[in-house]
Amino acid sequence: MNNAALYSQRPRDEFEILREKMVAYLREHYGIKDERVLEAMQKVPREKFVPEALKSQAYKDNALPIAANQTISQPFIVAKMTELLELSYDAFESPGSFVGRPKSRSRVLEVGTGSGYQAAILAHLTRMVYSIERIPQLAHEARKRLESLGIRNVVIKCSDGSLGWEIQAPFDAIIVTAASPKIPTPLLSQLKIGGRLVIPVGEDRNCQRLIRITKKESGFSVEDFGACSFVPLIGEHGWKQVQ
Ligand code: SAM
Repeated sequence: MNNAALYSQRPRDEFEILREKMVAYLREHYGIKDERVLEAMQKVPREKFVPEALKSQAYKDNALPIAANQTISQPFIVAKMTELLELSYDAFESPGSFVGRPKSRSRVLEVGTGSGYQAAILAHLTRMVYSIERIPQLAHEARKRLESLGIRNVVIKCSDGSLGWEIQAPFDAIIVTAASPKIPTPLLSQLKIGGRLVIPVGEDRNCQRLIRITKKESGFSVEDFGACSFVPLIGEHGWKQVQ
């Protein structure tokens, strides 16, 4: 029996159906086009990344609180930022989590592991994900969560991600899931030529702009993808204090 036949015989849980609706909404309402991103969003069980008491809200169209006063981002923002990374899928065949699915060769850095949900989405799309979280409790719990889901291509370290991860650089793509008053310069220098940095930037603690920066042979191009709202990036090249 092939995989498709096996899949169709498996009983579907309520979350799988909610996930399907979420993905349809991302496609139809928000215009997310990258089918690989949508496929990853269909695979990753978001309910496993939110606190037990909020499981029933896991597929709502909003951010949710997690431990340590932080948040798991709105599904749309996760999909949009992942799409903006423009991971290329053409080069590499891998026996990864998607049966028969090629994965990108891209080396991706995430700053702000939080629950680990965004890292799990990236793990389905690319060969290696490096993720940095400043709060030890979150880093520890995210590691355990990803391990329990059998996701092995994410490395999490606990430190100030505004400094990047020098020893693992250069990266094809960097995603920052916390808002910075300015673009952290170490992240720019840790991008490959042609690499993309997607980051919320702004001096306002409540409202920022979602920015994509592409590193060119000579300089950088900057694109603005509209307003967004994130918890602060706290660190040497972000906000100096929590509030
Ligand atoms: N990507 C996460 C997810 O999928 O659940 C959501 C991230 S949450 C919106 C932002 C995270 O960035 C928080 O967990 C926060 O502790 C973390 N953070 C803030 N400043 C940081 C820094 N300098 N380095 C690393 N992580 C940082």
